[in-house]
Amino acid sequence: MKKLLVDAVVISNEAVIPAVWKMVLWAPEIALCVQPGQFVAIRKSGGITFLRRPFSVADADPEQGTITLIYRLVGQGTAEMAAMHADEHINVEGPLGTGFSIRQGDKALLVGGGVGIAPLIFLARKLDRPVLLIGGKTAEETFWSEFLEPYAEKIYITTDDGSVGRKGFTVQALPDILAENEITGISTCGPMIMMQGVAEIAAKEGIPCEVSMEKRMACSIGVCLGCTFAGKSSGKRYKVCADGPVFPAEEVF
Ligand SMILES: Cc1cc2nc3c(=O)[nH]c(=O)nc-3n(C[C@H](O)[C@H](O)[C@H](O)COP(=O)(O)OP(=O)(O)OC[C@H]3O[C@@H](n4cnc5c(N)ncnc54)[C@H](O)[C@@H]3O)c2cc1C
Repeated sequence: MKKLLVDAVVISNEAVIPAVWKMVLWAPEIALCVQPGQFVAIRKSGGITFLRRPFSVADADPEQGTITLIYRLVGQGTAEMAAMHADEHINVEGPLGTGFSIRQGDKALLVGGGVGIAPLIFLARKLDRPVLLIGGKTAEETFWSEFLEPYAEKIYITTDDGSVGRKGFTVQALPDILAENEITGISTCGPMIMMQGVAEIAAKEGIPCEVSMEKRMACSIGVCLGCTFAGKSSGKRYKVCADGPVFPAEEVF
């Protein structure tokens, strides 16, 4: 897979909710070859952060030459991103890593929590109308359904406080959703505790499951070995940035 280093142009950068922003970048070479689940590592030229910051590609449009990132404000790097305006330049390395398997013909269930929902938008676009299960703390955090609606057959929502959808966590809703839909594969991205619960239910039901891991990474390109872990079933040493971030669930939990 070709990896590129490009000087991307900010097309738009706006808050979706105060804590989560959406940035559209003109990066035609990357838009052409990126796959769902892959990520980019970005750094503002002359910016304050020394290390690049990794972000999943939330969508790509090869015709327009754009990629979309959806990012939560966390620290210095994301604050610097949020201060950027249209026509500014940002250095982008990518596409990086190994993404989701696109199982055409399958009835897929995509389970996401928090900003882990970002790569599922791009995945949903490439699949044949998957079923979505997304979770957020409050109603404000369920804005994701707007991005997912064009590609989803159904979207189930859970909120911690019950303000929208079912009250509770995604994992608690999962058994009912599996009973209602003939699901043949699950892809999940979000907090580790959520993905572990999803993986356990999938294993019990005999449904193949893949998980997208988020580990702090320094180089993002498989050199520094800062994001390695030992595969649970194989014992093989994996680099999250290069071998993943998407792995079969049985290798992670
Ligand atoms: C493969 C991959 C894909 C990602 N995709 C997205 C995405 O689509 N949208 C999104 O909002 N975020 C995503 N992230 C997380 C994102 O990279 C971090 O939030 C970002 O680097 C924070 O940068 P910062 O400079 O603002 O914060 P920093 O100043 O670097 O950190 C501030 C705080 O956030 C914590 N933190 C920073 N990075 C991480 C991390 N990777 N995991 C856990 N805690 C962290 C730090 O411990 C610290 O407490 C992804 C991470 C990975 C590894």
